[in-house]
Amino acid sequence: MTEDDFRALVLEQADGAPTATIRRLKDSDLPEGDVTVAVSHSGLNYKDGLILKGLGGLVRRYPHVPGIDFAGTVIESRAAEYAPGDSVILTGWRVGEAHWGGYAERARVRAEWLVKMPDGFDAFHAMALGTAGFTAMLAVIALEVAGVAPGSDEVLVTGASGGLGGIAVALLSQRGYTVAAATGRAGSAERLKALGAASVIDRAEVSGPPARPLLSARWMGCIDAVGGAALPSVLAALRYGGAVAACGNAGGNDFAASVLPFILRGVRLLGIDSVMCPLPRRQEAWRRLARDMPMAALDSLATTVALEDLPHLADQILAGQTEGRIVVVLGR
Ligand code: NDP
Repeated sequence: MTEDDFRALVLEQADGAPTATIRRLKDSDLPEGDVTVAVSHSGLNYKDGLILKGLGGLVRRYPHVPGIDFAGTVIESRAAEYAPGDSVILTGWRVGEAHWGGYAERARVRAEWLVKMPDGFDAFHAMALGTAGFTAMLAVIALEVAGVAPGSDEVLVTGASGGLGGIAVALLSQRGYTVAAATGRAGSAERLKALGAASVIDRAEVSGPPARPLLSARWMGCIDAVGGAALPSVLAALRYGGAVAACGNAGGNDFAASVLPFILRGVRLLGIDSVMCPLPRRQEAWRRLARDMPMAALDSLATTVALEDLPHLADQILAGQTEGRIVVVLGR
């Protein structure tokens, strides 16, 4: 083993689905970029599941190192903003899809894709949040900007047992919102209440087409990780002036909804994208996450795994069978 020798999960494709193998690579194998990072932690997201299984046409070139988010320490930099020893976080920018990602002990990326680790925060907790937590924070900020204020009116989180949903529940509750968590897993109710949910409802209540274009007004806001299966009934039950932050598609891409909630109740549908989000908004979201995320809640959401576990866990996350956040621990 030499100084620039590191472990990576490499996807290769011959026919059909890609195969994943742990290989030893060298720094010279890494793609172009001006900052090289010793990756200590990565995460498993729904999109990583798709990439590991070769679904969705996300990866066009093999061999490929997946991992859409990571945290670690800069070991080499040609960029003025970063120096060896700096702690950094990366999410988005199609890293792990179009560019090699975080399922390796080293990654080389463009400096403008990185965010400096907030003071007092660490790589494990950054990846316990990961893309899911970052997106949940963007959604909370979007609801705030839309005027959905903390108080006694309920704010719904769909897909609440998942990574994004669980973090959204904790963040909203910490900010003083009254949170209703929708889940398909009855067994998650106690855990969701411990994260701060005031009530837990069955996913079936907010799935499928609503019985009428306008249901009784219930939600002041919603952070929706489910999409197609949930959005029509969430929109139909928003209170006057309410807003839904549409973050995910775990329940499908397409939805058919009535225009009536928009024109009779003035509700808003807010699109949330974490991948191309501009740097100042990223820095603000990470600063808020480091400040506001209850650490005990975050620890309770995180399970640690190794590179070797990922192919098997990819099947589970795609089948909606994982809970909370899965943190991949790298390093020698
Ligand atoms: P998870 O798989 O951890 O969570 C998704 C949750 O959605 C599941 O735990 C489950 O919750 C629920 N769910 C799963 N399948 C269905 C279904 N068929 N119908 C209804 N509910 C379902 O994923 P993440 O939390 O990492 O991501 C959530 C979503 O957000 C994904 O679609 C992901 O692609 C998207 N996302 C979008 C980003 C953006 O930039 N906009 C960034 C990050 C993620 P329960 O069992 O509680 O019902």
